[in-house]
Amino acid sequence: MKPLPQTVATLLIANRGEIACRIIRTARAMGIRSVAIYSDADADARHVHEADLAIPLGGSKPADSYLQIDKVVAAALTCGADAVHPGYGFLSENAAFARRLALEGILFIGPPAEAIEAMGSKSAAKALMERAGVPLVPGYHGQAQDLSTFADAAQRIGYPVLLKAAAGGGGKGMKVAECAAELAPALDSARREAVAAFGDGHMLVEKYLVAPRHVEIQVFADAHGHCLYLHERDCSIQRRHQKVLEEAPAPGLDASLRQAMGEAAVRAAQAIGYVGAGTVEFLLDGEGRFYFMEMNTRLQVEHPVTEAITGLDLVAWQIRVARGEALPLTQAQVPLFGHAIEVRLYAEDPAGGFLPASGQLALYREPAAGPGRRVDSAVREGDVISPFYDPMIAKLIAWGENREEARLRLLAMLAETAVGGIKSNLALLQRILATPAFAASRIDTGFIERHADALLPAPPALTEAFWHSAARAFLRSAPLVACEQDPHSPWSAVTGWRQLMPAQATLDLRCGAQSRLCTVALSNACAGPDEARLIGRRGDVVYLQWQGDPYEVALVDSLAAGTGAHASDDSLAAPMNGSIVRLLVSPGQQVALGDGLVVLEAMKMEHTVRANRAGVVQALCCEEGEMVSEGRVLIELQEAEHAA
Ligand code: ADP
Repeated sequence: MKPLPQTVATLLIANRGEIACRIIRTARAMGIRSVAIYSDADADARHVHEADLAIPLGGSKPADSYLQIDKVVAAALTCGADAVHPGYGFLSENAAFARRLALEGILFIGPPAEAIEAMGSKSAAKALMERAGVPLVPGYHGQAQDLSTFADAAQRIGYPVLLKAAAGGGGKGMKVAECAAELAPALDSARREAVAAFGDGHMLVEKYLVAPRHVEIQVFADAHGHCLYLHERDCSIQRRHQKVLEEAPAPGLDASLRQAMGEAAVRAAQAIGYVGAGTVEFLLDGEGRFYFMEMNTRLQVEHPVTEAITGLDLVAWQIRVARGEALPLTQAQVPLFGHAIEVRLYAEDPAGGFLPASGQLALYREPAAGPGRRVDSAVREGDVISPFYDPMIAKLIAWGENREEARLRLLAMLAETAVGGIKSNLALLQRILATPAFAASRIDTGFIERHADALLPAPPALTEAFWHSAARAFLRSAPLVACEQDPHSPWSAVTGWRQLMPAQATLDLRCGAQSRLCTVALSNACAGPDEARLIGRRGDVVYLQWQGDPYEVALVDSLAAGTGAHASDDSLAAPMNGSIVRLLVSPGQQVALGDGLVVLEAMKMEHTVRANRAGVVQALCCEEGEMVSEGRVLIELQEAEHAA
């Protein structure tokens, strides 16, 4: 074991994306040299350009790059790093990695390996918290893993119950069973996900609380026995049991409850000899009772809201604590000003079960940062959101004197944001913030589901006025010219100009599956109001905002039409890139609307492709274990009346 450094001159950041960029900013402010690492897929990523030095790891999948302890340690040794900041995800909660760095005489910017291990298993953590007097959700977190043990436990605590992977994180390996009949399939599916994601199928079961709030406490401990709580964050706005909006402080929490939760969190941290930044997550019920869920032994994605209300730089504190410095404040001195809200802008499809999206960000505009406004991102227009990593595009954070001011500021920031070429949750975030229930702080973890009608409305039929706006957007945003040699000649315009005739243009437009020939009088192309707002044009695509949603309209090159294989009505295609986990049907089988056909896994989450109508399975076009790309036909399904 080599001695650990007392100062940090060079910091290796063992991560990517926005969190790598965010850590680089603090390193620079502290006069520390920052070193990035990167996979093949990230060779041109922003964090690579922003760091003082960048070291390639090779590989693109996390398992071949950012999760390779040997490669990351070798990079740290190569650049002479005194310390490694793991960010969140990847190796941030890997005790073996923390130990390995210590052996090499490199500081790990995180807690002691023993503390990571103590909280690494949700089951073991619960047993520990029970002994430390921290309240738990009723449930079973023992060693026995057979179905009858789970069935007995579920019966005892009462349905609905939630099955969770002990090694879980990111909502993976988590399934609700509403009744006894659902228990065995839910346990199977959750366990399969857990094995795929964590290589560990150990499960626990808890009472599934109806519409609780997720309230978590930011704790900070130094190596001198001093531990503080930096208030709480409310992270109740979730989809797929994962956060999309977080705020601090939690609305409506009174001072005594805040103190009781803060003190319970500090007890949890002290019970495991914690040092550094950590988060203790609780569920809070309608009666003000709170229950320990888990402790994350790292920096959280949503730490900026805590920074906004305290004025502290948590990454700077992490580095100071790792160098052995004492925390500079007492509990009573921890500031709390105003209110902050963060939204996570994701490449995903809210209308399609929130499946992650990947592809090129053909259009990207983010809001300006400034007083009360913060933008944490790591992408530029033209970048590819890769299927290998988390599909978060950016975090937008607004601070205000009060919650309402923060809410309005964040809405203004979202109005300045544009994403095109890839599906995103931008419109959903805007609707959440604009919903009266959100403005009135009536929030809990069931918020998105309960307000689904308002938040995820069915797409409206495209009206004449919409097509007209789209055509005008093309005519306004760039001239349409046929003859490049003489672009100014009226004879080479393809805008429909005719001598002695009213000038008009006919454009062949396509939006999703719909297309339209649209004729616009040129005299009127630049005049009058538009129903749809033009966000931008890139090549032959215009990006419009209409009735709160983004639309992409392409100018069809009629000469080049008729290419590309599309899934027909009789076939069901993969909704995303992924691997086939299980085929649930066989050829010739009758299926009803909504029946599960194929289980697909992407980003370590299972997704079931279901029958879009009743019919008969004609053919299976994929095999278990196969990797398929988005749009690939998986099953041929013949409608019932056509089937023989
Ligand atoms: P992960 O570590 O995979 O993110 P968590 O245990 O942190 O999973 O839970 C994620 C979310 O799932 C919580 O924020 C909450 O919304 C929901 N959840 C977890 N446990 C329960 C429960 N017992 N009852 C109701 N909701 C729960």
